[in-house]
Amino acid sequence: MKYHESIVDLIGDTPLVRLNRITAGLAPLVLAKLESLNPGGSAKDRIALRMVAEAEAAGQLRPGGVIVEPTSGNTGVGLALVAQARGYRCVFTCPDKVAEEKRALLRGYGAEVVVCPSTVPPEHPDSYRSVAARLATEIPGGYSPNQYANQANPDSHYYGTGPEIWAQTDGRITHLVAGIGTGGTISGIGQYLKEVSGGRVRIIGADPEGSVYSGTRARPYLVEGVGQPSLPGSYDPSVPDGVLAVSDRESVLYARRLAREEGILAGGSSGMAVAAAVRLARRCQPQDVIVVVVPDTGRGYLSKVFDEGWVRRHGFIADPTSARCLGAAL
Ligand code: PMP
Repeated sequence: MKYHESIVDLIGDTPLVRLNRITAGLAPLVLAKLESLNPGGSAKDRIALRMVAEAEAAGQLRPGGVIVEPTSGNTGVGLALVAQARGYRCVFTCPDKVAEEKRALLRGYGAEVVVCPSTVPPEHPDSYRSVAARLATEIPGGYSPNQYANQANPDSHYYGTGPEIWAQTDGRITHLVAGIGTGGTISGIGQYLKEVSGGRVRIIGADPEGSVYSGTRARPYLVEGVGQPSLPGSYDPSVPDGVLAVSDRESVLYARRLAREEGILAGGSSGMAVAAAVRLARRCQPQDVIVVVVPDTGRGYLSKVFDEGWVRRHGFIADPTSARCLGAAL
């Protein structure tokens, strides 16, 4: 018989797949690391597993314990699936602007979701971060992993994703491209690849225009899961050799191209990373091997990135200039 003991055993060991049509005319090999194929649909399964395992080892999480975290996205799904497999309760807080569909997904995994007002500042006692901090101390057995300050976040990529990529490419990778949210992915994979290659592998970040990592002037952006207003502890700024800023339009159009031209349904941050990888590939040598991280599946974005009305409302496919620059995307 061939089977796994638990769903958590299916986390990691994600495949690399070549991008073909999107990279037509470009000489370097561009490979996508499909983190979307983790059981919860994102790279966050990896950090959830490591954060929970380390909390157990440190005695912060004991049988009957409750995981409390301010999250509405992939980290919540990752934590919920690890928690359910190991018998913990989950309580997540999220702002009321988060789509009901996302809250329903977390509840689907059996998590409790506490909805907090979006209109209050982060330091207000009713903000979703403050409520999570309060519940983590009030609920008996409560524990908050806090992915922005938890070393297990970058470590899960240093000990997992990085070595996988090195082995899968037979050490021939020359460039890594990853979007930056908490910074855990790029810091962990990047540090490992630099060490193992003696500093040969170049590490390139992708960041929404308007976020801190690319040093662009602060402004709102639509792509979810990436970018920050200020540098978090989970990001090691010494790792990336460069960070490319990508517009919402380019991110959305590349996410759509990934689905339509490669058959890879992934989110807007994957489109952002692939846009950066294509930009990089234009400047690379033919023998170069670029690995780009595809952090999550596109199923959570059907009413946005993959909705014709939404894309048109934001002017991403109506503008004739974009039609000229990104004709193939239309
Ligand atoms: N894409 C998506 C959809 C994400 O949820 C995240 C994590 N916030 C990232 C990219 C970036 O990963 P990291 O937090 O490791 O920088």
